[in-house]
Amino acid sequence: MPKKYIVIGGVAGGMSAAARLRRLDEDAEIIVFERGEYVSFANCGLPYYIGDTIKERNKLLVQTPEALTARFRVDVRTRSEALSIDPAAHTVRVKDTLRDREYIETYDKLILSPGAEPVKPPIPGIDHPNIYTLWTLPDTDRIKAVVTHRKPRHAIVVGGGFVGLEMAENFHQLDIHVSVVEALDQVMTPLDFEMAALVHQHLRAKNVGLYLSDGVASFADVGGLVRLRLKSGREVTGDIVLLSIGVRPNSKLARDAGLTIGQWGGIVVNDYLQTSDPDIYAVGDAVEIFNPILRRKGQIPLAGPANKQGRMVADNIVQGNVKKYAGTMGTAVAKVFDMTVAATGANEKALAAANIPHTSTIIHPASHAGYYPNALQMAFKVIFSPDTGQLLGAQGVGYDGVDKRIDVIATALHFGAKIQDLQEIEHAYAPPYSAAKDPVNMAGFIGENILTGKVKVIAWDRVEAIMNSPERGDHVLIDTRTPEEVKLGTIPGAVNIPVDALRARLNEIPKDKKIIIFCRVGLRGYIAARILAQKGYAEVYNLSGGYLTYSAATEKPAISQTFDESIDTGMRQSQAAVPMRQQVVEVDACGLQCPGPVMKVKAEMDKLAAGDQLIVKSTDPGFYSDVGSWAKATGNQVVSLNMEKGIVQATIQKGAGEQRIAEPSHGNDKTIIVFDGDLDKAIASFIIANGALAMGRKVTLFFTFWGLTILRKERPIGGLGKNLIEKMFGWMLPRGSKKLGLSRMNMAGMGPLMIRGLMKSRNVDSLEEMIRLALDNGARIIACQMSMDLMGIRKEELIDGVEIGGVATYLECAEHADTNLFI
Ligand code: FAD
Repeated sequence: MPKKYIVIGGVAGGMSAAARLRRLDEDAEIIVFERGEYVSFANCGLPYYIGDTIKERNKLLVQTPEALTARFRVDVRTRSEALSIDPAAHTVRVKDTLRDREYIETYDKLILSPGAEPVKPPIPGIDHPNIYTLWTLPDTDRIKAVVTHRKPRHAIVVGGGFVGLEMAENFHQLDIHVSVVEALDQVMTPLDFEMAALVHQHLRAKNVGLYLSDGVASFADVGGLVRLRLKSGREVTGDIVLLSIGVRPNSKLARDAGLTIGQWGGIVVNDYLQTSDPDIYAVGDAVEIFNPILRRKGQIPLAGPANKQGRMVADNIVQGNVKKYAGTMGTAVAKVFDMTVAATGANEKALAAANIPHTSTIIHPASHAGYYPNALQMAFKVIFSPDTGQLLGAQGVGYDGVDKRIDVIATALHFGAKIQDLQEIEHAYAPPYSAAKDPVNMAGFIGENILTGKVKVIAWDRVEAIMNSPERGDHVLIDTRTPEEVKLGTIPGAVNIPVDALRARLNEIPKDKKIIIFCRVGLRGYIAARILAQKGYAEVYNLSGGYLTYSAATEKPAISQTFDESIDTGMRQSQAAVPMRQQVVEVDACGLQCPGPVMKVKAEMDKLAAGDQLIVKSTDPGFYSDVGSWAKATGNQVVSLNMEKGIVQATIQKGAGEQRIAEPSHGNDKTIIVFDGDLDKAIASFIIANGALAMGRKVTLFFTFWGLTILRKERPIGGLGKNLIEKMFGWMLPRGSKKLGLSRMNMAGMGPLMIRGLMKSRNVDSLEEMIRLALDNGARIIACQMSMDLMGIRKEELIDGVEIGGVATYLECAEHADTNLFI
């Protein structure tokens, strides 16, 4: 006797089940009831049709009832709503809405895949005709008609989840100004706050009005527009509102049939996706699903799980409960303007709520090898058990390669891997795709360092809490970046000891305090933490994700303006401040890392006259904020700033601010005494020098004793009339910058080679290029006459551009300086 299967819901889960049933049972009668007009449509593609990325509506219709019937001999009945189920009688009562009639069908096995529907809470005014939700094709058609024919100027998206932000991007793509209103303090709840903060920055960079921590109190009509009054009292007015504040499972049919419903309102199923009635299975958004990371049930409405569950129940029905569903971890990805936002497993908020011990690492790796064009930085967070290393989740935010890394972690999570296992994952590598150590490997290395106690990490919010509490007195906060990076912003209360100067300045760091170290992304912080740990400092913590994470998470942006105000203010600002433009010069700083782009800007701006504009492109995401700080410090003005596909483009107008870049200094010059002749110290000296020059400061480098070797020419100069001792000094001292060793880990010359190789691969200028750049930008390089005499070094032996001077020359320069370094 052929079996009779009924499926309720004809899209993701339902249609997967129906097609698989047919592939397993050619003789069965299979009926699909779908209350809407369409089956198997691409609900995930709806926002992109509205935004015109998908041009043809037909493309959304992955299958038609006719095609499904032809291929799978499935009886697809659209406009057929299942009204009730009688589990005892094995019947379903159906309403044919086209013909307006009701009838009953019997079944042997029933599959429920009725999905979910958007939440519409009873907020006053929520039925305004210009408030829409997006879940079905008819919803899409309505919104498409509005954006096409009524051409709204301002769209307000209520809810900053995946669908809400996808729609924000698509409205924006249609040149509609967008505001996002979110009751929580962050968008994208699968992310932890500091990762979401990067999305906030990106949304603001795209000129999206962002109203966080502010739910809607009421909607009101203002001449056909919708005015939202927010809980804070602020008001936002728009032509169209998209409500996207979550979905609730369509479980009424199951509840009315007496099936067990869980605490989240979804249908309860066992491991085989069987409901409390053994002849009824349920899949997709309508069911409560086991989350194997949080070890509890919840609602995770995603297309991937719905499709796979549909396939699995067909196997279980035809072959007799052969497959167990392992649960849903919540692996998800979304395109948010130019960014990719992705997550898998649990985030720290959820783990804390579930009392599951966890720790994490945040890194900022490049999407592929830094020396290959268009490598773009991402933020990548991996969460794991502090006891065993068991992986618990990961989040990624960036412009390229984020989805790939999240999928690798999702796979590792699926197979129960530990963070240590990530170290050894062998990935496909070539420069356009990855680095020899992929970000996933890097997370594994750091995870292992944490687990084995080689480094202790501290999160941004803990640092913020410490620095704003009496605990502050027990801690020393050390910024290990260069002084120039520090100028662009640091954590209040931090002491700047660049990592390369740390060993020489250990006496400034008390041993009886807890030390918090940070750098830009965490790498120099880690090196510094290792130095201190080995020098006997017991409690040293490296800030996870570095200043990049801290600054994004603690940023307090100005409250978003309303649509009209923002336009108005923008116009007024541009009319008042920007003088007439003369020459426009374009420069490409892509591939350079901080402070490279700023230095390049400085070099180019020096060539321009007041009123000229420089358009600069950079792939360093930090440049987005750095360029504003630089312009402010140097009296220039950023007249436009945007980020497209991870490339920051800034237009800077020379001399439009109050200060002039070329003005004489007023006591903020920098002087550096270079005493040692080590490669690392020389590099550090010139990084600082060039950074200061980029900020428009005068720099003097005074080379004395062993430092003089940095300035020696490569080739020996004969005929200088040296005596024997002077000649011996000449033979023994390194001949020029290329022959210098490292102060530590020299390893018979291997160390310098490795450092130079690393610098090259990361697009950092070589020491020789740095010296040339410093001279070109006006640095005074003074060789100490007295040391030269003692060591028998002659002027002819030094590189071009070096002045010979005495201590008075140095002291005269130092009098105008606010920073004197001894390296
Ligand atoms: P659905 O696919 O929603 O199908 C349920 C069907 O059941 C509906 O057509 C409904 O009309 C029908 N139905 C309900 N009750 C009855 C009844 N009583 N009788 C007959 N028929 C009934 N997920 C992702 O993983 N990635 C994405 O990028 C993504 N983007 C999305 C974008 C949008 C705009 C939307 C709306 C959803 C998106 N989703 C995405 C979510 C994903 O589409 C759902 O998780 C998935 O479709 C759920 O499958 P389902 O079978 O449970 O429900």
